[in-house]
Amino acid sequence: MEKTPLLPLPEGMLIDQIQITATGLMISVISTHPTSCCPLCSEPSSSIKSHYRRTLHDVPCGGRRVLLSLTVRKFYCRNAYCPRKVFAERFPAFVDPWARMTIRHGEQITSIGLAKTTRQTILRRIMDLPDSSPGVILFLGIDDFSFRRGSRFGTILVNLESRRVVDLLPDREAETSATWMRQQLDLMAVSRDRGGAYASAAAQGAPQATQCADRFHLMKNLGEALEGLLAHHLAAECKRQTQATVDSQAPVWQSTRATHTSPKLERLQHNRREERLAHYEQVIARL
Ligand SMILES: [Zn+2]
Repeated sequence: MEKTPLLPLPEGMLIDQIQITATGLMISVISTHPTSCCPLCSEPSSSIKSHYRRTLHDVPCGGRRVLLSLTVRKFYCRNAYCPRKVFAERFPAFVDPWARMTIRHGEQITSIGLAKTTRQTILRRIMDLPDSSPGVILFLGIDDFSFRRGSRFGTILVNLESRRVVDLLPDREAETSATWMRQQLDLMAVSRDRGGAYASAAAQGAPQATQCADRFHLMKNLGEALEGLLAHHLAAECKRQTQATVDSQAPVWQSTRATHTSPKLERLQHNRREERLAHYEQVIARL
């Protein structure tokens, strides 16, 4: 870890910009390593594909909350035998993949909590805190959840900007959700499932808001459409292959398309069929 006075960073990481915000410090951090190793095959790569940003909570600085805006690079893996074609660079010992805070921040919270009290006491005190006001909600996520698996359902409402649950409703009826939305006059968009009660609720309770399908349901739609498409193509291919076999076995005087197929060609066709079938099954298995 580099020994800088204010914000120690791992070797090769630099502070690009510091902004003082209303809630603390926003520090932009970049990585300057010329290469990064593929997490799957460990081969180093210098071929950058793209960048994206991660926002991480870090340890406070001078009493101010610190957010890191970390620019992460995506690299191509140039190992021809590696199944991972693109990977994001990792920062071991500094932040875990997918984490929303640095490792040192997590360790600090843990040590403070355990030094003064027990885990149960911390949880009890958190549970005793008054519910915070949801405030102004512009972008709302809505979906159902089950109180008891498969038997009783409620509705969960999430502020998509703060990524916090703002309320739970006792059922998933359109009228219940619509009544809740009528109290949120600033709603600009409602992200929901693929229609039905929540579409109706948004139309009634927040007609000014744009409705959109959430990522989960879009991916579900896409997966189902792809599965149907592949099944259709496989059926057509099987039918074509069956017809081709029948044609090739028909007597010459009955078939206008009769051709002489060599054993080698038949073997080649058979192998190609097997490859296509294996590829199809792989795609289906990933859905
Ligand atoms: Zn690789």
